[in-house]
Amino acid sequence: MEGLMQGKRGVIMGVANDHSIAWGIAQQLHKHGAEMAFTYQGEALGKRVKPLAEKVGSALTIPCDVEDSASIESAFDEIAATWPKIDFLVHAIGFSDKSELKGLYADTSKANFVRTMVISCFSFTEVARKAATMMDGAGSMITLTYGASMRTMPNYNVMGVAKAGLEASVRYLASDYGPRGIRVNGLSAGPVRTLAGAGISDARQMFAFQQRNAPLRRPVSLDDIGGSALYLLSDLSNGVTGEIHYVDAGYNSVLMPRLAELKN
Ligand code: NAD
Repeated sequence: MEGLMQGKRGVIMGVANDHSIAWGIAQQLHKHGAEMAFTYQGEALGKRVKPLAEKVGSALTIPCDVEDSASIESAFDEIAATWPKIDFLVHAIGFSDKSELKGLYADTSKANFVRTMVISCFSFTEVARKAATMMDGAGSMITLTYGASMRTMPNYNVMGVAKAGLEASVRYLASDYGPRGIRVNGLSAGPVRTLAGAGISDARQMFAFQQRNAPLRRPVSLDDIGGSALYLLSDLSNGVTGEIHYVDAGYNSVLMPRLAELKN
C-alpha cells in the first residue's frame, strides 16, 4: 500500500538529526507521497536538517524556536507564503533542563517548570493555532508524548507533568477544532535513543527495562513510530480524534512484569 499521503502537504517540527522521531515520521510520510516543510530550532541544527530535508525532496526549511512566539509567527507566515493551505502538522518537540531530569520531582525549580511547560506543552497549542488557520475544512495534527504522563517514572520528573498537560491539550484542541474538520491526536512512543531521550538520567536502564517487560520484548523503531504517525495523519484514521495512541510494544498494558524476568 503506497500513496496514502499523495497530494497532502504539511509541517514537520522537531528534526534534530537522523535519530529524531520526527525524522522517522518524515521518512514514512515521504514514502507515501507527502510534501513537507521542516522547521528547526537554530542554525546549528539547521545545518543537519537541511540535507535531511533534501533527501525527502524538501527545500522548505525554516528556523523556529518555539519558546519565542514571534519566531512561531514568522515561521508559519513564511510557510503560508509558499503553501497557503496545509493538511497536517507534526509536533515532536520537548525540552527540560537536564539537571532536573534526575533526583526528585519535588525539587523542580519554578524557572525550569515554566520553561519545560512552555516548550514541551504550550508550544503545541500555539503552533496548532497557527496551523489550523492554514487547514481548510480538513486536517490532522499530532504531537509526541510518553507514558510517564500517566504513571511516575524515575527521573522523568517535570517532563511527565508537561506530557500530562500536553495530552490534555490534545483533547481540548480536538474539541475546539473538530467542528472545522481538523483532527488532533497524540502518539505515545516507547523509549527511543535520541538526543532528547539521552537527557534523562539512567536512560539506558529504563530502555532495557521496558524492552524486557513489554509484551513484544523489543524496543520500538523509528519505522514503528512513523507507521503509527502515517495512520493518524492519513485518511485511514478519519474517524479518530482526541486520542492518545500508544506505540510502545505494548508496555503501557503491563501492570506488573513477570517475576522471573524482574530477577534479571
Ligand atoms: P530529539 O532530540 O531528536 O528531538 C527533540 C526536538 O525538540 C529537537 O529537534 C529540538 O531541536 C526540539 N526542540 C527543543 N527545544 C526547542 C525549541 N525551543 N524550539 C524548537 N524546537 C525545540 O528527540 P526525540 O526523542 O525525537 O523527541 C521528539 C519528541 O518525542 C519529544 O516531544 C519527546 O519528548 C518525544 N518522545 C521521545 C521519546 C524517546 O524515548 N526518545 C519517547 C516518547 C516521546
